[in-house]
Amino acid sequence: MRFDKFPRLQLTFGPTPIEKLQRLSDHLGGRVEIWAKREDCNSGLAFGGNKVRKLEYLMPEAIAQNCDTLVTIGGVQSNHTRQVAAVAAKLGMKCRLVQESWVNWHDGVYDRVGNILMSRILGAEVELVNEGFGIEFKKSWEAALEDVRERGGKPYAIPAGASDHKLGGLGFVGFAEEVRAQEAELGFKFDYIFVCSVTGSTQAGMIVGFAVDGRANRVIGIDASAKPTETREQVKRIAQNTAELVELGRRITDEDVVLDERYAYPEYGVPSDETLDAMRLSARMEGMMTDPVYEGKSMQGMIDIIRREEIPTGSKVLYAHLGGVPAINGYSYLFRNG
Ligand SMILES: *Cc1c(COP(=O)(O)O)cnc(C)c1O
Repeated sequence: MRFDKFPRLQLTFGPTPIEKLQRLSDHLGGRVEIWAKREDCNSGLAFGGNKVRKLEYLMPEAIAQNCDTLVTIGGVQSNHTRQVAAVAAKLGMKCRLVQESWVNWHDGVYDRVGNILMSRILGAEVELVNEGFGIEFKKSWEAALEDVRERGGKPYAIPAGASDHKLGGLGFVGFAEEVRAQEAELGFKFDYIFVCSVTGSTQAGMIVGFAVDGRANRVIGIDASAKPTETREQVKRIAQNTAELVELGRRITDEDVVLDERYAYPEYGVPSDETLDAMRLSARMEGMMTDPVYEGKSMQGMIDIIRREEIPTGSKVLYAHLGGVPAINGYSYLFRNG
């Protein structure tokens, strides 16, 4: 693999910490050691998260192309758009956000708190659009790009989740490289890596990065899109393109893509009772916050898989915490009694 050739603009604090979740491990029977890699604490840019790590590889291109406006798309409580808004502010660029109604969640303050609140304070131009969930290219996003051009700006187009972009998988190839260096210090290797998957480039990058030492299929994607066929296809396509880009030296196949469909119910952006239980458990065992859209579901999946003894005794698992906590403000009613 040739990974060092890609320019990276540092927007994160540096390597993210890995910590042991001792009480959660014990609570689940102690058969499996659970550790967490804290991408949720990766940057000072408006609470950070996994999109900042991806954007470190897109921004050198935006700067080289003399772009002055970052244009992207997401749901109303998108973590991605908030991270793009923060990066734009940091780089002195403008930001144009298309926020679609991807989530069937009707809370009185949903479009005024959490992520979208921060995006507005960060100075982004926020446009609310009444369109449903989909990770494909969107008309509203094309229209925003055209609008920036008509006003004399030079847009840099970032697709949903910074995923379907030729450089979108690189950040999480780097994540795997970082884990390997941390494993050398810890003196052991992780047997499984749990990660939430929706637009796909986080898992895709990890698949390529961990393919280097034969662990591609030890990356357990937990689907939160509730459209697993589309998500699996997108993960595979991005992983294949990223593998070629970094000269991995082998093709990514269906066997490399592990996506568990069992935990995305009832639908994207809406938590099940089991998701809420997993959020409470990780908070009460470890003081670690998760959200009802993404990390609550991957936490639910990891807990259930460990409880069902689907992974061997003695395994060490790494939970990739990708961020997303600001969205909990849009779900306050669910937690009114704790
Ligand atoms: C975007 C996001 C994900 C999903 O990552 P993808 O690369 O879109 O698959 C998971 N968790 C959080 C908190 C996110 O913001």
